[in-house]
Amino acid sequence: MNEDAPTDDMKWCVVLTVLCANVLRLQNVVFRGGHCVTCPRPEGVPAPRRRLSVSAHTMAGKSPSSCVFCQICGDNPSGTELLLATDELVVFRDIKPAAKHHYLVVSREHIPDARAMTAAHKPLLERMLAAGDRVLREQGADPSASASDVRLGFHWPPFHSVSHLHLHVIAPTADMGLIARVIFKPNSWWFVSPEYVMSRL
Ligand SMILES: [Zn+2]
Ligand SMILES: [Zn+2]
Repeated sequence: MNEDAPTDDMKWCVVLTVLCANVLRLQNVVFRGGHCVTCPRPEGVPAPRRRLSVSAHTMAGKSPSSCVFCQICGDNPSGTELLLATDELVVFRDIKPAAKHHYLVVSREHIPDARAMTAAHKPLLERMLAAGDRVLREQGADPSASASDVRLGFHWPPFHSVSHLHLHVIAPTADMGLIARVIFKPNSWWFVSPEYVMSRL
C-alpha cells in the first residue's frame, strides 16, 4: 500500500473541517449575544436587530463597502496586482495558491455567488472562462496541458470564503495537496464546474 496516499479517514477529517468552519459561520447568523434567535428569549434579553438574512438576490449588483473583491475591483486599496482587467472582470492571484498557477477571475458586478447567476450572465461566464484561459497562457502554464490538468470552478453556497462571484483557475492539478483537492473537489456539494453553472442558466 502506498503510505503517502491519503486514507479515507484523512479525507473525511478534511471534509469535516470544511463543514465545521461553515457551520460556525452559519451559527454567527443564527446566534446573537449567546441567545438562539429561534428559541424564546429569556426575560430581559432584548430582541435581536433584524439583520439576519440579507438575501443573496437583494445584494446582487450592489457593491457593499465591506466586500474585499469589490474593493479590489474599485480603488484596490490593497494594491493587488491585476493580471487582467476589463470593463466587466478582473483577474488576480489567489493569496493562498493551491498550485503553481492559481488565479481568481472576479466579476466587477457584485454577484454573491454562482447560484445567483441568471441567463443574462451567460456571456459573462463565457468571458470569465476565456479570461482565465488567457491569463494561464500569459503566465506560462504548459500550453500542451489538457483540460484535466486545469481545475476550474466556483464555490457553491453556503460554502464560499468571499461572497462575491469568482472563478478559481488552478494548474497543474498535480501540484494540489490533499486539502486543496478537497476544497476544490469538482462537482461536490461545495465546489462546482463552470459546465454545471452554465447548465443552470
Ligand atoms: Zn463584492
Ligand atoms: Zn474562492
